[in-house]
Amino acid sequence: MSIVSELEKIVSGGFVSSALIDRIVSAEDTFPYELREEEVPYAVVMPGCKEEISQILRFANKEKVPVFVRGSATQLAGSTRPHTHGIILSTDRLNKVDIFEDYNFFECGAGCIVLQLAQKLEELGYYLPVHPGSRRIARMGGVVSNNTSAHIVDASIGKPSDYILGVEVVLPNGDIIETGTKGMRRPAGTDLTKFFVGGDGLLGVITKIRMRLVPAFKSSYGVVHFKNLESLAKGVQRMYYEKRPKPLIMEMMDEKTTQVGFKAKGLPAPKGAIILFESIGCSQEEAETKREQIIQSLEAENPIKVDRLKDINEWNSILSAREVIGSFLCQESGNYSKSAEVIPNLKYLPEATEECANFNQGLPICGSLEHYLYGHIGAVSLHPGILIPRNWDSEKQREAITELFEREAELNLKYGGCGGEWGQFSKRTSFFIRRYGKEGYEFVKNIKKAIDPNNILNPGILEGYR
Ligand SMILES: Cc1cc2nc3c(=O)[nH]c(=O)nc-3n(C[C@H](O)[C@H](O)[C@H](O)COP(=O)(O)OP(=O)(O)OC[C@H]3O[C@@H](n4cnc5c(N)ncnc54)[C@H](O)[C@@H]3O)c2cc1C
Repeated sequence: MSIVSELEKIVSGGFVSSALIDRIVSAEDTFPYELREEEVPYAVVMPGCKEEISQILRFANKEKVPVFVRGSATQLAGSTRPHTHGIILSTDRLNKVDIFEDYNFFECGAGCIVLQLAQKLEELGYYLPVHPGSRRIARMGGVVSNNTSAHIVDASIGKPSDYILGVEVVLPNGDIIETGTKGMRRPAGTDLTKFFVGGDGLLGVITKIRMRLVPAFKSSYGVVHFKNLESLAKGVQRMYYEKRPKPLIMEMMDEKTTQVGFKAKGLPAPKGAIILFESIGCSQEEAETKREQIIQSLEAENPIKVDRLKDINEWNSILSAREVIGSFLCQESGNYSKSAEVIPNLKYLPEATEECANFNQGLPICGSLEHYLYGHIGAVSLHPGILIPRNWDSEKQREAITELFEREAELNLKYGGCGGEWGQFSKRTSFFIRRYGKEGYEFVKNIKKAIDPNNILNPGILEGYR
């Protein structure tokens, strides 16, 4: 039996590939190290509908071949990289969008690119409450599987799950189910949507997502320059403690990072560490009033400078300097940039920021590497990053990444948080066990076993193999 010819019986039209280059490219992810031989898949398949996915999963169960679901593989914790031979199931062709204004929701295929969907909604006066830095390529299925707010400050408008009314899913055994509601409030019975939104792609292949329509709002923008990271962190604490309206987006970069990001965008390099933020309101006046209230808290920490931006193009340039900073650091240095996700409790933000600024100090492998600090500071989320030398061999790069995640785990445990926006398992399985105990981990394993007894769908994520 040839896996490729069996897949071609299910998905016609040239959407199955066994070309080595496709198999390699579709198994790689954001990690710098090369694939091991056993990680190269047998085939890549791009189904066009839920029925084809159902048949692929039924076939995979029959033949006990693992299936690895892939959006754009921009997840940063290793979930899309297979650890063993199998089938890569790409969601690229699930890209239909239906906007039902009368019903106040839209439905989109899991393969829709985030930015393209956001632009479609924007044309009709709506806002997509999902904003990862990878939105130019990341797909809705990946974002929903991680339930990531990304650049959006959770305390401002909530998480994607607050807007998702339901999903259509193909279960690992090939059954197709729909969860949720087309109404405003929660569905009847156990809310099955919650198994899949933030489910790390363990329990089913999401094919369609239904989300509430969110009216667009007016925005105002600010950039605040601080003399050091301590005052920056204390300013954010104040914003919360003084009960200010939360910004939609609030990002930070340390001074070294701004130099690289601003240079890449052709902007004059600012002084100090910066916070850039977007305030929102129903009217321009309301957005500006909220911006001033936030600035009042930040000003109490004596910043070097406060800029109130008027030009949307200037804001877009500065935001993009931050959004794609990982790529700019790679370009500038010729090495690989890799970051961690430390999300301390608000109370510990200044100490955690200080420690993240020296994140790799004393680490045996990464200790001497160039490091940077940036993050979604309004969401109290820090991304300490390092540059991994391109000329290190693959195994050393792998060890460096493992060390990075170990350090991330240490700091999240110390400061009461959890790096989870990029996925809770794969590189974070050992953290999960330390944080939630063996019992918590067994609970998840038992759910997975009950739904996917052959461990066909995305194996390795839960086991932390990747
Ligand atoms: C430059 C850059 C910036 C980023 N910025 C942020 C950020 O600001 N905040 C943040 O939290 N994250 C950020 N990320 C990581 C973020 O998690 C991903 O970009 C995004 O959520 C994943 O989308 P994807 O299409 O690439 O999914 P993938 O990486 O392809 O998939 C992610 C996981 O979901 C599973 N999956 C994918 N589609 C489905 C589906 N249809 N059904 C079931 N499971 C599925 C996969 O198997 C995998 O386990 C960034 C990444 C990059 C490279």
